[in-house]
Amino acid sequence: MSTSQRPRQVILKTDDEIEQMRPAGQMVGETLDELTEMVKPGRKLSELDQYVIGKFKRLDVIPTFLGYQGFPHTICASINDQIVHGFATERELVDGDILSIDLGATINGWVGDSARTIGVGSISSEAQRLLDVTAESLHAGIATAQIGVRKGDIAAAIQEVIESAGYGVVRGYVGHGVGRDMHEPPSMPNYGRRGSGMVMRRGMVVALEPMATIGDPTTAVLDDGWTVVTADGSLSAHFEHTVALRDNEPADILTQA
Ligand code: MG
Ligand code: MG
Repeated sequence: MSTSQRPRQVILKTDDEIEQMRPAGQMVGETLDELTEMVKPGRKLSELDQYVIGKFKRLDVIPTFLGYQGFPHTICASINDQIVHGFATERELVDGDILSIDLGATINGWVGDSARTIGVGSISSEAQRLLDVTAESLHAGIATAQIGVRKGDIAAAIQEVIESAGYGVVRGYVGHGVGRDMHEPPSMPNYGRRGSGMVMRRGMVVALEPMATIGDPTTAVLDDGWTVVTADGSLSAHFEHTVALRDNEPADILTQA
């Protein structure tokens, strides 16, 4: 999930606390890998949600999104022009769709948050390029996210990859700090100026989550009060990892299996 909240105070994590966050992150990464295998034409979004509900119940993992400000599902499932916060409805996937799955897990009181966009069957080369560019922008952000850089450096790295490909950067929904709460300060926008914003410090754990659009990045929200779509109906992609900033190391990606 992404946030539009105002920043409060940043909560730095010790190395020990970062290790305590890893099981939740690994659970999210592993489960997204499994969901990726399940994505195919004919699969209902609700089946993906049910899979995670069953797995988390069996393993005593708290589904972070379920009930969050009233959100009614365990995954966010956002198809095609849906950007984020889509519902896991009875909609069946069809060949050529792109599906963004966002997942949060809480283990021992710590949260992991990650998302990826997956092609269903065979997708257009235009859609594939959008997925590739958005994933690349996340990795550019992660590569930049080190102790001592500024928030604007990370944002600009993400923005440059997306805009140089001719795509739009969504502004109204951004990344965030992660810890015992899914949405902690600071907000982590996907657009910004190098050299601007707060200095990134040791012990910061943040979710970077670029959302890119083929067309105009202006957003709208559906009548369900949650699903964020592109106002012009163009395709959108979303990739997210929760990463920790450690001493003299590249950012530690917590949300992988
Ligand atoms: Mg998030
Ligand atoms: Mg998320």
